[in-house]
Amino acid sequence: MTAAYETLNRMLAGSIPDAVELAGLLKAQGKLTERIYASADRTRAEKHGSAIHLRGIIEFSNVCKNNCWYCGIRCGNSKVKRYRMSADEIAASARNALEWGCGTVVLQSGDDPLLNAGELAALLRRIKLETGMAITLSVGVRTRPELEALKEAGCDRYLLRFETTSNALFTAMHPDESFEDRIRCLNDLRALGYQVGSGFMIGLPGVTLEMIANDILFATKLRLDMIGCGPFLPHPDTPFADKPLIEDRSLYYKAIAMLRILNPYAHIPATTAFDALEPNGRNLVLCRGANVFMPNITPGKYRRLYQLYPNKPCVDEEGSACAVCVRGRIAGLDREIGSGPGHSILKAEGDTI
Ligand code: SAH
Repeated sequence: MTAAYETLNRMLAGSIPDAVELAGLLKAQGKLTERIYASADRTRAEKHGSAIHLRGIIEFSNVCKNNCWYCGIRCGNSKVKRYRMSADEIAASARNALEWGCGTVVLQSGDDPLLNAGELAALLRRIKLETGMAITLSVGVRTRPELEALKEAGCDRYLLRFETTSNALFTAMHPDESFEDRIRCLNDLRALGYQVGSGFMIGLPGVTLEMIANDILFATKLRLDMIGCGPFLPHPDTPFADKPLIEDRSLYYKAIAMLRILNPYAHIPATTAFDALEPNGRNLVLCRGANVFMPNITPGKYRRLYQLYPNKPCVDEEGSACAVCVRGRIAGLDREIGSGPGHSILKAEGDTI
C-alpha cells in the first residue's frame, strides 16, 4: 500500500496521477480510506469553508425522447405516466425555493422534444424577474444557437453529465446520442460563458477500476465549475435491471473524495442517488468532499413519476419537507447554509481555464 500512500501525497501536493496510480488508490482499504476521506474533507474546508450551498431542484418534465439503457424515464418504459409542469407551476416552485433558503434553482427534465428554447427562455426570464436566483438548466444536449438563446435569457449554469469516458460504453448505452456531441455541447457551454457542470455515474455495468479512474481524470481535465457524480443504481424497468452495485461501497465515496482532492475549487454536490444507496449517503458525501446539497422542490404529485433509479428518497413528500429536512442535516454536521447564489469560485481564484 506504500505506493498508494505516495500517490495520495503527490495528489495533495497538486500533481495529477495517471489512471493506473489512481486505480490503485481507489482500491484502498482501512486506514488509507479514512485518510483519503479526511484529506478531501480538509481540502473542502480550506477552499469552501463550512457553507453548504442549496440548489433547489425542480424536475419539471419526465417526457424523454431518448432510450438510455440505465434510466427509469427512458422513452421505452411504458409504465411511466408522463407529465409536464406548467410555467405557472414551475415559477411557483422557484419562488418556494427562494423562500426556503436556496440561492439557485435547478430546472431538470428528460430530453423533452416539445420543450423548445423559446419557451425555456421565457421561463428563465420570468424566474429571474420574480426571484433573482441563479438558474441552472439540465435539459440534455442542445444546439449552440439554443444554448446562446438560453444564456441570453439569463441562464447562469448548465448541467450535462458525460456519463462515462469510454466512448464504446457510451455508445452502447445511448442509442440516440453520441459521446462527441455531449462534449461538443460542453465546449459550447464553456465558450458561451456558462458555469459548466458535468460528471459521470459511478459503477456503470462493465466498468473497471481503471475506467473509473479515467472518468475522474477526464472530469478533472475539463476544469469544471461543478462536478456532479453519483452511483449507478439499477432500475427494474430498464435493460440494466439485473446489474449489480459495486460490492465495495466505499468505492463510490472514494471517487468523490478523489474528485475533491484533484478539483479543490469545483462545487461538488452530495447527489440524491447517494441517499438511495444508503439512508445516510448524502451526509457521508458532505463529509468526504462535497459542499453542495440539492433539496428536491418538485411538487409532491410529480415526484413519484421522476424516478431515474429506484429507492429515490422523499418521493412521498411535499416540496417544503426537503427544505426543512436539509436544515436539520446541515446543523447536525456542524455546517451552515451558504448565502447568495453560490457561483463558481474557479475563476475568482485565478484558476485558468
Ligand atoms: N435529460 C437530462 C437530465 C438527465 S437525468 C440530461 O440528459 O442531462 C440526470 C442524471 O441522472 C443523468 O445524467 C444520469 O447520470 C443520472 N441517472 C439516470 N439514470 C440513473 C440510474 N439508473 N442510476 C443513477 N443515476 C442515473
